[in-house]
Amino acid sequence: MNTKFNLENLIRANVKTLSPYSSARDEFSGTSSVFLDANENPFNNRINRYPDPQQWDLKKRLSEIKGLSKANLILGNGSDEIIDMVLRAFCEPSKDKVIICNPTYGMYQVAAQINDLKICDLKLDANFQPDVKAILENNDAKLLFLCSPNNPTGNLIDREIIEELLSSFKGLIILDEAYIDFAADASLVKELDQYPNLIILQTLSKAWGMAGIRLGIGMASCEIIEVLNKIKPPYNINTLSQEKALERLSDEKKSQTEIRLLIEERDGMIKELRRFSFVENVFPSQANFILIRVVDANKLYNLLIDMGIVVRNRSSISQLENCLRISIGTAAENQSLFKALKEFEKTFTTQTQ
Ligand SMILES: *Cc1c(COP(=O)(O)O)cnc(C)c1O
Repeated sequence: MNTKFNLENLIRANVKTLSPYSSARDEFSGTSSVFLDANENPFNNRINRYPDPQQWDLKKRLSEIKGLSKANLILGNGSDEIIDMVLRAFCEPSKDKVIICNPTYGMYQVAAQINDLKICDLKLDANFQPDVKAILENNDAKLLFLCSPNNPTGNLIDREIIEELLSSFKGLIILDEAYIDFAADASLVKELDQYPNLIILQTLSKAWGMAGIRLGIGMASCEIIEVLNKIKPPYNINTLSQEKALERLSDEKKSQTEIRLLIEERDGMIKELRRFSFVENVFPSQANFILIRVVDANKLYNLLIDMGIVVRNRSSISQLENCLRISIGTAAENQSLFKALKEFEKTFTTQTQ
């Protein structure tokens, strides 16, 4: 039980007193066939009406999949929008502080900077785990970002560390589980009701294969969701995205098969990558990407570009010197990568002999 956490103390004063925009469709409930309330074009073309502002059909399906109530869900135009909403609801610009444990997903810092927040930039340790002591020394921060599995390092954060922080950090904790479907550990969604300070983020962009529709899922106590709903843009999820998401979510088996294939590919690739002499480290991965440390990351990156293969060069980031992040592709794409790596191995071995 976290005795230090008090949601009311964290909400921004202007958000507390805000009367949210009420859309035509918010005010109406029930069934009707004549809609003369929103100045839409009445001629039916499937998208002439505004979308459902609360995305109830989609939330119903997601609540079944996640085992939560619809009141515990908020959807965003990508999880990136939910990150921004949380910052705007709880953090006072030029005054409040958020904690980011680097190296991690770059959007946390950008979103915090856009909102003019103070950033407490802490380092992950040698195993890419957060420094609990340093975090609790900054217990005046409004918000802590944790990413598990972490991007770009690929590791899970130890469950005991997450639990310790959830029970002793004074502010809100955003736990970003964008890659949890590829991981051995279970999501913390099942324990959400034990943690009033927890906001879990998931996304349809990775395991569910729908990066193009931009759909992020925020899960938290209904009190937190209520605050976020106050500041949510009324029609933030468009009709086409809601329909596509429902369609794909109706076939859980398809995604599960793809996830299994990607995990198999990943584990095979980790073994293969370790054989190259220019690869100094293949970091363990619980995600759909692999972080490797090589002898000359920029050189390898450029060679791959010349061969038409793009990976993510992370070598300019502190603690990630000479590191590249490689997404798991199809078996054929991964074979192309290995062909290119064999070419690189040749130039590399001739030079060092
Ligand atoms: C890819 C990714 C996301 C997904 O963001 P969307 O806006 O939902 O596409 C979120 N968090 C992390 C850590 C990611 O790597």
